[in-house]
Amino acid sequence: MPTPILVLNCGSSSVKYQVIDADSEAVWATGLVEKIGLPEGILTHKVPDGEFVVEAPIPNHDEALRLVVQAFADHGPALADVVAVGHRAVHGGELFRETTIVTQAVIDGMEALAGLAPLHNPPNVTGIRAAQAVLPDVPHVAIFDTAFFATLPAEAYTYAIDKDLAKQHSIRKYGFHGTSHSYVSKKTAEVLGRDLKSLKTIVCHLGNGASISAVDGGVAVETSMGLTPLPGLVMGTRSGDIDPGVFAYLGRVAGLDALAVDKVLNKQSGMAGLTGGLSDFRDISAQIAAGDADAKLAMDVYLHRLVSYIGSYVALLGGTDTLVFTAGVGENDAAVRAGVCDRLAPLGFKLDPAANAVRSKEPRVISAPDSPVTILVVPTNEELAMARETVAAIRR
Ligand code: ADP
Repeated sequence: MPTPILVLNCGSSSVKYQVIDADSEAVWATGLVEKIGLPEGILTHKVPDGEFVVEAPIPNHDEALRLVVQAFADHGPALADVVAVGHRAVHGGELFRETTIVTQAVIDGMEALAGLAPLHNPPNVTGIRAAQAVLPDVPHVAIFDTAFFATLPAEAYTYAIDKDLAKQHSIRKYGFHGTSHSYVSKKTAEVLGRDLKSLKTIVCHLGNGASISAVDGGVAVETSMGLTPLPGLVMGTRSGDIDPGVFAYLGRVAGLDALAVDKVLNKQSGMAGLTGGLSDFRDISAQIAAGDADAKLAMDVYLHRLVSYIGSYVALLGGTDTLVFTAGVGENDAAVRAGVCDRLAPLGFKLDPAANAVRSKEPRVISAPDSPVTILVVPTNEELAMARETVAAIRR
């Protein structure tokens, strides 16, 4: 008996969706609504029969969801068969430590957390409301990006600042990309035929946004993102770690207020900041090949940061069994993987260059047979993870 789940990821200007049969894990439909709020909106709906595109102004998420429902009505599969909806929810704060069935109280809680994630939580809530309006008779489930990191020990999530101020404003490390880190760490154990409970893993989620986690026996013990998704690794347009004194300094010398600095660090920094605008690693590699010194330095900074984190997580875990690469850069960029592993070779990370060069969508081991640490590429699948979480929540 199929168990079709609609998974929805409502961002500020886009909606991504899939219908996944949670029993066979087959994907029945995928879709993307882009440019919500702009005059030239576009919906792309893919089913086994083909791909259907609707171009129309899409002023808001209600209209986006209305078009999604229409696409399902026109091209299938039947939304009436969907047994539950799983919603990506970015920030669970201290309120939501696990996947949660949506009630009015949950929506109120998510709204109360909007200050922690002003760009993400409001569209998540809008999406939930709009989806509840069109699918009122099935359970809706919120899957929080932060939930996998609810297990971090206090010594990892506590910032060394005034404890009363921290408590008053819920300032602590939360971590993000949790659905991906959780899925990839579990999948790693499965691929290796190992018991998750006895496996130490370092997961590098390297996409446009990037984060790294240390997972001990399936339990997250450290991660690089924090109160917000800004700290940690160098990212496409985000700085990652930087001296927090830069906020006051830029205020003094450049007249930038905190919001302006926040924007610089989120949107004009990282690889884009270092290269003069390039955030895609394919473009950056091409520039390096063409002899561009800025692109080369950007890559060196990126690798230096990543290697520093991996080394620190090896120390925290007391050694690691595996190092896993995932997301757009981690899955596709063999040069980044080689750059990381070559620098880490003295610590027992020995790559098999031929295996590293293989392009594939399958999970695979890329370390040499005699490498003390097993190195893998494990493609992430946040939608499948969300479908599984949704089913687990409604069956609990
Ligand atoms: P997001 O954080 O937006 O979900 P993804 O995980 O999809 O990001 O990663 C997108 C990034 O992956 C691109 O910006 C690009 O830098 C990188 N990427 C995608 N394909 C390749 C490739 N073939 N080679 C190198 N990098 C790639």
